Amino acid sequence: MAKTLLDKVWEAHTVAELPSGQTQLFIGLHLVHEVTSPQAFQMLRELGLPVLYPDRTVATVDHIIPTHTEQRPFDDEQAETMMREIERNCRDFGIRLFDRATGHQGIVHVIGPEMGLTQPGLTIACGDSHTSTHGAFGNIAFGIGTSQVRDVLASQCLAIKKPKLRRVEVSGALPAGVYAKDVILHIIRTLGVKGGVGYAYEYAGAVLDRMTMEERMTVCNMSIEGGARCGYVNPDRTTVDYLRGREMAPQGDAFEPAAAWWQSMASEPGAAYDDVTRIDGSHLAPVVTWGINPGQAVGVDERIPNADTFAADERDVAQDAYEYMDWTPGTPIAGTKIDVAFIGSCTNGRLSDLREAARVARHGKVKPHVKAIVVPGSQAVARQAEAEGLDDVFRAAGFEWRLPGCSMCLAMNPDKLVGRQVCASSSNRNFKGRQGSPSGRTLLMSPAMVAAAAIAGEVVDVRTLLSEPVGV
Ligand code: SF4
Repeated sequence: MAKTLLDKVWEAHTVAELPSGQTQLFIGLHLVHEVTSPQAFQMLRELGLPVLYPDRTVATVDHIIPTHTEQRPFDDEQAETMMREIERNCRDFGIRLFDRATGHQGIVHVIGPEMGLTQPGLTIACGDSHTSTHGAFGNIAFGIGTSQVRDVLASQCLAIKKPKLRRVEVSGALPAGVYAKDVILHIIRTLGVKGGVGYAYEYAGAVLDRMTMEERMTVCNMSIEGGARCGYVNPDRTTVDYLRGREMAPQGDAFEPAAAWWQSMASEPGAAYDDVTRIDGSHLAPVVTWGINPGQAVGVDERIPNADTFAADERDVAQDAYEYMDWTPGTPIAGTKIDVAFIGSCTNGRLSDLREAARVARHGKVKPHVKAIVVPGSQAVARQAEAEGLDDVFRAAGFEWRLPGCSMCLAMNPDKLVGRQVCASSSNRNFKGRQGSPSGRTLLMSPAMVAAAAIAGEVVDVRTLLSEPVGV
C-alpha cells in the first residue's frame, strides 16, 4: 500500500506501541532554548539522570535576548538568570550551545535549518510550538511542553499519538506581491484556527513545489496557528539543493546517499489521506489579520467582516475582536493607521524576507509617527544581510537595524508595544497582549506588507507601492 511521509517517518522512529494507544517515538533532533528548558534540566538533576543523547541535542538563546545591545549582564535580572541557567545546563550536560560568541546564535527555528541540522525524514521536537517550521524539509517536527522536554532529554523518546493527515494542495501561481505568508494566512482563514487539531498538514501543489525552502518554512511555521501541531512539505530537489554544503549536513561522499534516502521518504502517489483541501493560489491577495487570532484575516482589499458572516460558534470571538481591536464591521482594513512596524521572527526573519522588505523600503521613508524595527532571525542572516547592504537600505529608510532574536514577536525582551499601539508585524500570533502590552494590537502580514505599512504609516497594498518608482 502506498505510504505517506508521515507513515514512513513514524514507522522509522517507533520504539513501541503503548497500551494507551500512543507511540513511544524516538526523537532524532531535540532543539532547546532558554525559556522552556530550565525546569526540565532541574528535574533531570533531581532524578540524577544524564542527557541520554547530548549529540542529538542543540541549544540556543533567542526569546529573552535583547536586540539593542550585546552587553552582559542583561538589565533584566530574570533574563540574565535564564541565560546563566542555559549556559550552566549546557556545560554540565555536554550540550552544544549556540550563543552570541559562537556566531551561530539565532531563533531556534532559524538556526536549525541554516546549519543543516534540520533534515528530511527526522523526528524533531522542541519546547516551542513553532517547531512545525522544520517540517518544510519533509520531517515530523512538533512543539512539546516542559515535562516532555525532560522526557526527551532523559530518554530521547516521547509518548505521543500519531495524528491524522490532511493534504493541503495549493494550485496555480501566486500573483506578484503575494507571498508564502499570505498563503498560510489564507489557509488558516479557510480551515480555521482549530481546523487542524488532531491533524498533521501535508502542504503540496504547484505553489508549494515552486517555493524556496525559506518560503516553505514560513508556511510550515504557522501550521500550529491552524491547530495542526506539525506540517510538512515532501522533500525534493529544492530541499536537497538547500542542504548541500551546510555545516551539519552530510559531507562529501556521504551526501548523495543521504539525499537519495531523504527523497525516498516522500509520500507516494496513491497514498491515502484523512482529508484533502484544495486552494487556488492564483487569486490570492496580500492578507492582513484584523482580529485576535490568525484566522481572523482578510485580503488587503477587503473590509472587516460582519458578525453574521461567521459560524455561530465563532461570533463571540469575533465580537471580542471588534471590541479589543476597536473595529466597526464593514471598515476597510486598508488605511488602518499603525504605530509600530516589526520585521522579524521565526516566521519571517530570514534573508529572503529581509530582501523583499528592503526592496519595498527603497520606495520611501518610514512615516515619522511609526517606530520601525528589523530583527534578523540569526547572526548568519544578519551577516549575509549586512554583506548585501540591506542594513544600510533599512537605516536610510528610517528603520532600526537590530541584533538577532525573537524580539517583539513575544516581547520577552525589552522590545514591547506600549499601551494601545497598533503593530504591523511579520510574526505569527496576534493574540491579545502578545507583543508586550496587555492592550497592544497586532496586525499580521508579510514582511513586504509591513515595510509598506511603515512607509505609508497605515495598512496599504504593497503591490501599489511597488508599482511606484524607487525613492518616491
Ligand atoms: S520568534 Fe516568536 S514564535 Fe518564533 S520562537 Fe521566537 S517567540 Fe516563538
